[in-house]
Parts: sequence; structure tokens; C-alpha cells
Amino acid sequence: MVATQLGAPKRVGIIGAGIAGLAHAWVAAQRGHHVTVFERSARSSGASIRNFGMIWVIGQPDSMQSIAMNSQSMWLQAAKQAGFWIEPCGSLHLVHHDDEWQVLHEYLAEHRHSPRSAHLQLLDRAETLAKTPAANPSGLLGSLWSDTECCVDPTSAVRSIPAWLHRDYGVEFHFSTAATHVESGLIRTGEGMNHPFDQIVVCSGDDFATLFPEAYHGVAIRPCKLHMMRTVEQPHGWRIGPHLAGGLTLRHYPNFKGCPTLAQLQQRIATQAPELDRLGIHVMASQNHLGQVVLGDSHQYGEEVEPFDTCDIDSYILRELEKIICLPTWDLQARWHGVYAKYTGGLVYEQVVAPGVTVFTGLGGNGMTLSFGLAQDAWERWETV
Ligand SMILES: Cc1cc2nc3c(=O)[nH]c(=O)nc-3n(C[C@H](O)[C@H](O)[C@H](O)COP(=O)(O)OP(=O)(O)OC[C@H]3O[C@@H](n4cnc5c(N)ncnc54)[C@H](O)[C@@H]3O)c2cc1C
Repeated sequence: MVATQLGAPKRVGIIGAGIAGLAHAWVAAQRGHHVTVFERSARSSGASIRNFGMIWVIGQPDSMQSIAMNSQSMWLQAAKQAGFWIEPCGSLHLVHHDDEWQVLHEYLAEHRHSPRSAHLQLLDRAETLAKTPAANPSGLLGSLWSDTECCVDPTSAVRSIPAWLHRDYGVEFHFSTAATHVESGLIRTGEGMNHPFDQIVVCSGDDFATLFPEAYHGVAIRPCKLHMMRTVEQPHGWRIGPHLAGGLTLRHYPNFKGCPTLAQLQQRIATQAPELDRLGIHVMASQNHLGQVVLGDSHQYGEEVEPFDTCDIDSYILRELEKIICLPTWDLQARWHGVYAKYTGGLVYEQVVAPGVTVFTGLGGNGMTLSFGLAQDAWERWETV
């Protein structure tokens, strides 16, 4: 057990065993607190097990770089201690259009004096093809290589963390246990049991209705639904290499916002394929330890979130992926959707809702990348005031 004792140990209650709740559990336990986690499902089943498993440092704005890098090193540490698979694979943004290539040049120029530049490199066509067998060579101009990204298999990683935190840090987990009422000093569960705590963190993901619904009224937070697919295991041990993204992704993450040619790229997509904007589609691929390639995704917000997964969305995603990557087999093994909470007022919605009770959610598409670092940052702030 590694504990950094700072002040008297507290009883800390956490709601939600998604990555946000697990990150708080780990950090609080490292600080010497007695931690208990309540999770409504029998095992983690929310956004945290439904994603690409991309620790996507490249997608974070400059202001989040140090938190993202800290998070990435915490993932490596967690994987080592808990024994789950992780690969520091890096990433490539593959480009097949002149405006995309120009955006990459502008991005690199903008960062030439920043510490970030040490992790970035523009690759020409031949260098790109040498980095991954999956780049579609047809029309390929080059790529942006970044060495900071890691890959985990989200389902096995997230579901293995509770046993590790219990074994090494004594964290108690109550699965199949919904928290139905929270107030200062107390969590009440569906069975009517009251559990006393000194500090409570509510990491309930996209459930805005059960606990502190008033904390979400008038706040820029809403659910976002994403379509995902996974291929069967690729044959003969074929590996994709780095995480792959394409020109469409340049419009999605805030890191490319400062590039002057981005507007031209966005205009081209809006004119040529308006369905991609309507459905929030940009395409990415990662490969897990089983050899399956995880493919996605789309983004539908608020009232657009329906239980039905319409087939056109998956077709568009596959159509766009086939433009940028080639796989030995595209046979699918699974399709699913995930829903996350997206807060647009910042990278996380952290709100004190009662003395000693903090809501912590809204991580959008960055929860896997940032949760560990944000949790550490939060506890350092909370315990130095
Ligand atoms: C398809 C998809 C792809 C993504 N890809 C990436 C990626 O590659 N990289 C990246 O960084 N991020 C990615 N994300 C985002 C990331 O997965 C989320 O930001 C993150 O998982 C959110 O974690 P969370 O703990 O807040 O929510 P969740 O994982 O949804 O966990 C919330 C948990 O709280 C529990 N809960 C809620 N209410 C209660 C209650 N009252 N009592 C008890 N338990 C309760 C729920 O059952 C749930 O288990 C992706 C998301 C999706 C959906």
C-alpha cells in the first residue's frame, strides 16, 4: 500500500465505479483515507467500459497538458499494479486532403516553442506507411505523429481496478447498490441503509436525475450518445500500431482550434457531407490486446439521445473509416452505444452541492484521458484550503 498521509484520515464515500469514481477512490486512498464506493450496477457498465480505451493526450488543450500527462503516467502505474494490459502506442492523424495537411503544419508551427513539440512530428507519406500497416495509401499525404497516447482495453481495465484498490488500498466496494439519497455526512442506499462519511464525491456520470437534480438545472451539461463497433480479432497477429484518427477528427477536439485553415476544412465537410456534422461523426480506430479493432464514432446530444441505434450512422462511420484506413478484415464482432455527460463550461463539472459533498462529472470524451489527473488535482486543492 502506498499512502501519502496528509492530515487525519477521513471516511470518504464515492458514488459510481466508472473511471471518475475509481480515480477519486485511488487518489483518496493514496492520501490515507478510508474509502467506500457505491455502484448501482453489478459491475461497471457505463461510459467507462464502452469507449476506445484511448488515453488521448494529443486531443487536450494546452491548458490541460500537465494534467493529461500526469493522468497518462498514473494509467501506466495503475496497469502495473493492477495487472491490466496497457500499450504506450502513440497516435497518428492521417491526412488525405490538402486543407488537413495545412492544418497539421499550422498546428506544429503554433507549438514549435511549447514543451508539446517534443512529442510531435509531421510524417510524410512513406514515413506514415512505415508507422502503421493500416493507413489507406490512396491519396495519403502524411500524418501527425504523437508519442503521448496509450491504449487500454476499457472493459477489462476498468473492471479490474476495484479488486486492485480493495487488495492494495483497502477500498470497500458495494456493487448492485444504488445511492438514493445523499446529504452532508451521509449516503443512503436503496436498501435504506445510512452510511456515515466525512467527505462524499458523486461521480454518477450521465444520471442527472437521482442525486442533486437541482445541481444540473441551468448548467451547460447534457448527455451525449456515441455509436461504436468492434471487429473480430484481426488475422495472423496483425497490429494497427498507433491509435488512428483522420482529417475529420481535426474538427472535433479543441486542440486544433487555433489553426487558420480549420475553417476551410470545416466548410468543405459541411458542403460535401452535411450528415457528418448533423450526426457529429469523426472517425478513429484503436486495437485492443485481443487483436480486435475498436471503431467509432458519432455524437448526438440532449433530446437527440434515443434508445434506437439507427443503421445509417454505423454505415457513415464505416464509409469514412474506409477512406483513411485498411484492415485485413472489417467483419464486426460487436456494435454498441455509450452515453456520457458533456459539460461545456469546462473540462469537468465540479460542484460543491452541500458541505463535504461534491458532484464531479461532465468529462465528455475525455474521461479516460483525464480522470486520474483531475482527481489528483482536485484532492490537492481540496486538502490545501
Ligand atoms: C463511446 C465512447 C467512446 C469514448 N472514448 C473515449 C476515449 O477513447 N478516451 C477518453 O478519454 N474518453 C473516452 N470517452 C469518454 C469517457 O468514457 C467518459 O468521459 C468517462 O467514462 C466518464 O466516466 P464517469 O465515471 O463519469 O461515468 P460512467 O462510466 O458512466 O460511470 C458512472 C457510474 O455511476 C453509476 N451511478 C450513477 N448513479 C448512481 C447512483 N445513484 N448510485 C450508484 N451508482 C450510480 C453508474 O452505474 C455508472 O457506473 C468515450 C465515451 C464513450 C461513451
